[in-house]
Amino acid sequence: MAEKPQPVRVLYCGECGLPAEYCEFGPDFEKCKPWLIQNVPDLYPDLLKEADVKDADKVSDQLQSTSISGGSSKPKQEEVKRLPGGKIKKKEKQEVIIEKMTRNKRKCITTVKGLELFGVKLSDASKKLGKKFATGASVTKGPTEKEQIDVQGDISYDIVEFITDTWPDVPEAAIFFIEDGKKVPAA
Ligand SMILES: [Zn+2]
Repeated sequence: MAEKPQPVRVLYCGECGLPAEYCEFGPDFEKCKPWLIQNVPDLYPDLLKEADVKDADKVSDQLQSTSISGGSSKPKQEEVKRLPGGKIKKKEKQEVIIEKMTRNKRKCITTVKGLELFGVKLSDASKKLGKKFATGASVTKGPTEKEQIDVQGDISYDIVEFITDTWPDVPEAAIFFIEDGKKVPAA
């Protein structure tokens, strides 16, 4: 079916009342523009382009702002080592902590924590410590249910050398004292 030629209709601008094609010569072409775009978009193709450009600007502005806020503020994923089961591997610090505790003015206990982290059997270590310092030593459970060695008396001055001599796997740099609540390296 061939399209019938449309009869030319004169459209009068809803804003200025002039025939639409004369709007650009009318009193206020700027005011007419929205009406023209709405009603006779083909008459002023440049208006459409203008509108398109404006819209496109808006869109690209929005894109930019979303890409800025969505992009750089995205929190970096922390690198976490996971075990095959998906559990996060929490690496225990290999440290031997020695703390001297005074129960009363005469009685003093030196606790040794962390030897097991170096593959030392605590019951064995307890015996050796007791023998070396000619005192009582025992494996006990600390406040966190972790086993530690309690040695009677203040042996903190000699214990570092004894540990590194007896268990060469324990480096002196991994031995710390707790003094007045502060961790102090023995090395
Ligand atoms: Zn007009």
